[in-house]
Amino acid sequence: MKIVMKFGGTSVADIDKIKNVANIIANQHQTADVVVVVSAMGKTTNALTSLAHQITDKPNLRELDALLSTGENTSVALLAMALNAIGCSARSYNAWQMGIWTDDNFGDAKIKYITAPIWHDWSKGIIPVVTGFQGITYNQDITTLGREGSDTSAVAIAAAIGADYCDIYTDVDGVYDADPNVIKDAKKLDFVSYDDMLKMANNGAKVLHPRSVMTAQKHNIPVRVRGTFTPNDIGTLVACVRQK
Ligand code: ADP
Ligand code: ASP
Ligand code: MG
Repeated sequence: MKIVMKFGGTSVADIDKIKNVANIIANQHQTADVVVVVSAMGKTTNALTSLAHQITDKPNLRELDALLSTGENTSVALLAMALNAIGCSARSYNAWQMGIWTDDNFGDAKIKYITAPIWHDWSKGIIPVVTGFQGITYNQDITTLGREGSDTSAVAIAAAIGADYCDIYTDVDGVYDADPNVIKDAKKLDFVSYDDMLKMANNGAKVLHPRSVMTAQKHNIPVRVRGTFTPNDIGTLVACVRQK
């Protein structure tokens, strides 16, 4: 079984949460080969954006991506350290190291190709921990995939390696029929088709970025939206057809 596990910003917002995530990964690693994809800690990307805007209203887009991409560099290194500290061998990778090649549309780059040289690590029992959100152009410029782009990084890596599942761990325990942080009696869904999920994402259901849903549908990657704080719950399956 091959699983990509993606953790969003709220899941890795501080050191205790990073340690919690390391334990979830260690558990999953007992039964599957895993690749981990991580967002920047908490509101780091907002803070970096605000720094740029203290310099100019219109930052150079190449430099803005060079800046915003740094948030994910911090979280992968800390998470790899946390895994090593509990006896799980792990190595951090940025987009350049993982070969996440994109076009040069800074701030909203599209992934063209992923080389993902993970087999070497897997053959030694090492867990690759990869930056979400980042890409690299053929001219070796750093790009970002647009806000919330780590979901797309995770699904694209899952497609590149032929993963059985792409698990998106977040601060809610699945996809609901409305935002559970806004609508109190929103109902959790066990299954959502790609088409319905895409409609929900396009209507602002932040839980999955629309491009990640399109990528999952194109490559038929089953996505499970799961809670980082309820890791034993299987969450919501987003797929073509309901599975047993
Ligand atoms: P992450 O940092 O893990 O990427 P996001 O904030 O991007 O997390 O997405 C999770 C949030 O999506 C939830 O906290 C929730 O408020 C919001 N959300 C909006 N619509 C929905 C929905 N239909 N189902 C679940 N969550 C939703
Ligand atoms: N860190 C980026 C953001 O805050 C990407 C992501 O979290 O998916 O938008
Ligand atoms: Mg998100």
